[in-house]
Formats: sequence, structure tokens, C-alpha cells
Amino acid sequence: MTTSVRNEVWQEPFTFHCDRCDHMWSVLYEVHRYTGIAGQEWLVYCRDGRPVRAPHLGSRCFACGGLRVKIVPTRIEGPSGAPRPSSASANIRKPSDQ
Ligand SMILES: [Zn+2]
Repeated sequence: MTTSVRNEVWQEPFTFHCDRCDHMWSVLYEVHRYTGIAGQEWLVYCRDGRPVRAPHLGSRCFACGGLRVKIVPTRIEGPSGAPRPSSASANIRKPSDQ
């Protein structure tokens, strides 16, 4: 007997960067994807087993409480598995113009 709603769960890390104080941090979300009978999909983001606000909807900086927080794209999957040390902290600097 098949169920009408499919549920997939995986873990996905998100890295955030605060434009205000330059703080950077990572959060591991548990993502639940539900697929309904009509093919519609929706995602629920959880932490510690509880649904939380989706990371794309904005977060608050842990360090300064600012709201100018962006998601930093992370590459976790490599098809050919070329391990690249991604200590890219040198790339993240405050723009010193203006
Ligand atoms: Zn901040």
C-alpha cells in the first residue's frame, strides 16, 4: 500500500555571513521534503527535531543581532570528489571603498 505523501529527509549545512559585523557561521539543518499526490512539493527546515524558519527567509546574526545576513553558497557535493581546502576566509572582506 502506497502512501499519498512522500517524505524525504536529509541534512544540509548553510553558511551565513553578516554584512554588518563580518561574522560567519554555519548551521546544519534537517530538511524534510514532502511530495503530495498532485506532485506539489514543500520543504520544512528543522533543527533539533523542531521546525524552524527557513534559512532563505533571513536570519539574525549571532554576534551583533543584525539582520543583514546572507547565505554563503557552499559546495558540499563534488561529482569527482576533488577535495579542495576551502579556507576562503581571505575572500571575505569588508569592502573598503566609500
Ligand atoms: Zn553581525
